[in-house]
Amino acid sequence: MRQRHGKERGEVTRRQFIQDTVAGVAAVAATPVLAALDAPVQTGGSKLPWYRRAYLWGQTNITEKDPVRYDIDWWRGYWKRTQVQAVIINAGGIVAYYPSKFPLHHRAEFLGDRDLFGELTKAAHADGIFVMARMDSNRTADDFFKAHPDWFARDANGQPYRAADKYIACINSPYYDEYLPGVLREIIERSHPDGFTDNSWAGLGRESICYCENCTRKFKASTGDGLPRKADWNDRVYRRWIMWSYARRTEVWELNNRITRAAGGPECIWSGMNSGWVTAQARSFRDLKDVCARADILMLDHQRRDDDTGFQQNGDTGKRVHMLAGWDKLAPESMALYESGPGYYRVASKPAAEARMWMIAGIAGGIQPWWHHVGAYHEDRRMYSTAEPVMRWWKTNERYLVDRTPVATVGVVWSQRNTDFFGRDASADVVDAPYTGFMHALVRARIPYLPIHADDIARQASAMNLLILPNVGALSDAQVGALQQFAARGGSLFATGATSLFDEWGDPRPDFALTDLFACHRVGDIVAPRPSTGRGGGSADAGGAFAPSPSGHTYLRVLPELRGRVDGPRAGDEPAVSGTRHPVLRGFEETDLLPYGGSLSQLRVDTNAVVPLTFVPPFPTYPPETAWMREPKTDIPGLVLSDHGTARVAYMPADLDRRYAREHLPDHARLLANVVRWASHDRIPLTVDGTGLIDCHLYEQPGRIVLHVVNLTSEATWRAPLDELIRVGPFRVTMPSPKGRATARARLLIAGTTPAVSVTDGRASLEIASILDHEVVVLE
Ligand SMILES: [Zn+2]
Repeated sequence: MRQRHGKERGEVTRRQFIQDTVAGVAAVAATPVLAALDAPVQTGGSKLPWYRRAYLWGQTNITEKDPVRYDIDWWRGYWKRTQVQAVIINAGGIVAYYPSKFPLHHRAEFLGDRDLFGELTKAAHADGIFVMARMDSNRTADDFFKAHPDWFARDANGQPYRAADKYIACINSPYYDEYLPGVLREIIERSHPDGFTDNSWAGLGRESICYCENCTRKFKASTGDGLPRKADWNDRVYRRWIMWSYARRTEVWELNNRITRAAGGPECIWSGMNSGWVTAQARSFRDLKDVCARADILMLDHQRRDDDTGFQQNGDTGKRVHMLAGWDKLAPESMALYESGPGYYRVASKPAAEARMWMIAGIAGGIQPWWHHVGAYHEDRRMYSTAEPVMRWWKTNERYLVDRTPVATVGVVWSQRNTDFFGRDASADVVDAPYTGFMHALVRARIPYLPIHADDIARQASAMNLLILPNVGALSDAQVGALQQFAARGGSLFATGATSLFDEWGDPRPDFALTDLFACHRVGDIVAPRPSTGRGGGSADAGGAFAPSPSGHTYLRVLPELRGRVDGPRAGDEPAVSGTRHPVLRGFEETDLLPYGGSLSQLRVDTNAVVPLTFVPPFPTYPPETAWMREPKTDIPGLVLSDHGTARVAYMPADLDRRYAREHLPDHARLLANVVRWASHDRIPLTVDGTGLIDCHLYEQPGRIVLHVVNLTSEATWRAPLDELIRVGPFRVTMPSPKGRATARARLLIAGTTPAVSVTDGRASLEIASILDHEVVVLE
């Protein structure tokens, strides 16, 4: 049984920890952030429900052919080798793997009268393994459609929405309210799984408005309106449809849980799958915050990295869902062991290094590993060796990987509402890329951070000394108020782009809602990126500000400190710039220009502000003879810095966050990190010196600090798949000592060594000689 600790004790521990080890942070740390997220007190000897004890997961995603070739004994051996505590077994939905009493519940083509789901469930239970029955329940074959034509989604012309040869069931129809509950009950009565998950529980996505009779009637009853005729983010009715669609998914979530618990007992939970990508969640009306509040366990279907966001994105996902759900809930994640991208090869092995690093990056962020094979028989058997070593390592070191709370002083603010109503149809560019740019820059600078939902600022930000707002255009008045209070208590802000220029519906405000803190004001139209006003037109509007232009390149001029409105001499005839530069410009001593690439427009800057960067407008790229600056100097700010008591505020109209995500220029990462350090008063709980790209996650456990370092340095750092791990090191690490104690012992869980530790002023220093894939430092 793992160690658990009560809330009260945890609070004291964290408060002491923060005060003792990060001197000065306590200026804003009235209540440590993590206390609010603490697990409920575990009293007496009561056993935790199964979904809090199942750490290692496996899934053989059964194909229709498998009933005639599923070697159950072999797979039982594989379960044992990989030490899984829970498995996901296909039960019903599109395809049934048992002889269902519902005549239209399509049996797998090769099932015959076999009850494969029942046999596998029995085998797993006999081996002491929990079973989650997998449903995939949003479409049917032709015969079902013909029997219940009024249960299916329809386009504006009344034609059914289809996916290949299947018909999409409407989420507002009796298919979800009557038929699926019957199937869930049948599965429970027959085979008694421990819970349910569902691959596509949320039904038809945002791209397709359903005009079936059920939707027409229910939307009218709920809102008094007819269904929107088309997607139009400025249309009040379309906005209502978006919110109404979200509410229905939440209703389905709760309905399914009522059904499964009533039939299978209080621990027979239903937990549909979710993506780690907020834009994907938005497109399918799965509100991550609502889901995390309701889910007993987060089932993440987020199987691989993509080249834009790297392995580090899985660490970010783990932190994001735990900050919403609490760090006591588990969040297993389906991890593809087949080649899953960019090319898709369901029965070929993913290179072991690539699969392994995705697993490790997730574990570092608090995710539990879950191997995933498609099909029960493979001629490429290399995939069977990938998960076992990771799972074995987890088992040995489990106590350092769960029941831990993160340590960070920097929060990155996000909200799905912003993805929807500010990002609209361009959220990948307008919302995701700026967030990703900060994620990459913080990882590169080895600055621990946590994703903070914009609704949770008051609750979670008190232990933070800096909140980053990466182009968070849409903020409600309440969210703005929470940010103002955070700053009033001494917390610093670093905002970019269109932050606070829009309300929660994406309607423009007359000025920044945070204009006093930004120490600058909107003048006319802001060129800073803003969303499209309708469907499809997004990239022209939003992209115009930041798309690389063949006809012009732009720059930011690096200035000595200037007070108030920039008033430099005219271009072309002045001596080189000289003077004392602001600390955010550290490392740029040898340049007066930084590459930028976007556009900026005028702002009116308060007299108390500093403007260390100004905009250099575009001039020709081709032919090279024309590549000279037509306007070397403007007074258009690229960065505005101001002090507000102990709070420091940086407002960066330039979208360097997004540009770093897209273009990967080191100058942009350096500048972002410099501003973060300045705004944080240089109070970052971790420093790591040494060469290499690494992702650092810092945690606290009672009497213990845990540092998880993931090596991202590889021959495929920015492009999957990874084939070869490359060793890096040595690293000199400085981190808080447990409870600020004057002595501490360290162990490296991978290297198996015990490096020497020196403690000065509550900060412990030690060396990691080298890291191949990852290392975990345990300081006690
Ligand atoms: Zn419908």
